[in-house]
Amino acid sequence: MRIILPKEQIKGQRITISGEKARYLISVLRCNAGDELQVFDGEGSFYKSRISGVDNKEVKIDLLEKIPFDTESPLNLILMQGILKGEKMDLVIQKATELGVKEIIPAITGRSQVRETRKSARWRKIAEEASRQSGRTGIPKVHEPVDFSSWLIANSSLKLKGFIFWEEGGVTIQDARCRIQDKNLHPESCIVNHASPFFIAIGPEGGFTKEEVKLAESMGLIATSLGKRILRAETAAISAAALVQFLMGDMG
Ligand code: SAH
Repeated sequence: MRIILPKEQIKGQRITISGEKARYLISVLRCNAGDELQVFDGEGSFYKSRISGVDNKEVKIDLLEKIPFDTESPLNLILMQGILKGEKMDLVIQKATELGVKEIIPAITGRSQVRETRKSARWRKIAEEASRQSGRTGIPKVHEPVDFSSWLIANSSLKLKGFIFWEEGGVTIQDARCRIQDKNLHPESCIVNHASPFFIAIGPEGGFTKEEVKLAESMGLIATSLGKRILRAETAAISAAALVQFLMGDMG
């Protein structure tokens, strides 16, 4: 059994938790006194713990040993996702979290059908839950939605690194990967500097416009293909995150 608690709440040797986290332990995990538990602080450590008491609304936990632990990918992967309708966006957030994405930037593009949303709190909850379930030590940051083109222009000084996935003319992911050249590294090496952000951009249901792809390219992203078949945006996002973790992160 595992839960994530904010670091401030993990103080001393015995802690008492109430509210939603307690309800989760009692009703979903059906914990009992004596059960072993891993308490993650969301910042790279977990505590071997034991439940010392359960009543209707509260759970008492003895923290036994702090263990530094890291399940994070070395790749600082950021997903820019054209906002998708309904549950498809929830799915992408959940799966991107499982796949180790560190930040998610929901984006409104020229062809977005969803042009405004108040779902950030819901998405953050999904990311937190998926982090816990997948044993991640960190929780991805879910940003407030941005306008895709304005965001690119506002960040033009950054010289973005990464791929914009485009079904109408991107290069293969292998070629794209070898075009990534990090400052201070040998220009012919295919080694990626893990410290700097690596972006993957996926369009909404209607895809990116050509102008958006050109703009992203002018900011440093490489237009990249996922093959000849048109994938649904959610399939594309999940595949792209997995492939990039395979090539440059921790799935290889
Ligand atoms: N507008 C298109 C489909 C867009 S698919 C149409 O209906 O024909 C939604 C997003 O998934 C795209 O913007 C792109 O980022 C990604 N995607 C889907 N298939 C892809 C492929 N074969 N190669 C690269 N990206 C793809």
